[in-house]
Amino acid sequence: MADQPLLLQLIDHLQCLPGVGPKSAQRMALHLLQRDRAAGAALAVVLAEAVQSIGHCRVCRTLTEDDVCAICRSADRDDRLLCVVETPADVFALEQATTFRGRYFVLGGRLSPLDGVGPSELGMDHLQQRLATLRPDEVILATTTTVEGEATAHYISEMAAGLGLATTRIAHGVPLGGELEFVDGGTLAHAFAGRRRVDAGESI
Ligand code: ZN
Repeated sequence: MADQPLLLQLIDHLQCLPGVGPKSAQRMALHLLQRDRAAGAALAVVLAEAVQSIGHCRVCRTLTEDDVCAICRSADRDDRLLCVVETPADVFALEQATTFRGRYFVLGGRLSPLDGVGPSELGMDHLQQRLATLRPDEVILATTTTVEGEATAHYISEMAAGLGLATTRIAHGVPLGGELEFVDGGTLAHAFAGRRRVDAGESI
């Protein structure tokens, strides 16, 4: 591919983005080159820096350029609530749609043995340590409602129960198989507010 003209290389590389096919990639490349080279240059700089500098929070595993992210550092967050999500995008979605002020833990996926994703890939030992240290009053399981998401929630609820911690599960209003980041804000806020205890099946 390095032998290709630069323009074709750019169009090719833009297609690494989700939802971007050849046509969109071509439009983006031409737009940057014809109409907004300054924005293109700024994008290149910030993208290179982001890829280089952004890693995972040592405490919650979300994406951050710091050792510990802003939410984990904040003294205003409620240590009695810990919300477990699959991706950093879910943290964004919940922060935007709900008034949740607790802490997070980001798994980085969901249990999927066939794809080689087991407890260690999701940092379950790390989560167990976090639960044992923080000892929140409520562990909120906000994994997706897919089969793997449910299996992941079940795994964590057993882990929490082993530590004597109560867990709740968001469900109401989130469509089966729904990815949190694609659920509209109102529905997500409703689902979050209507979470249920995992053991007793009661509303909290
Ligand atoms: Zn963090």
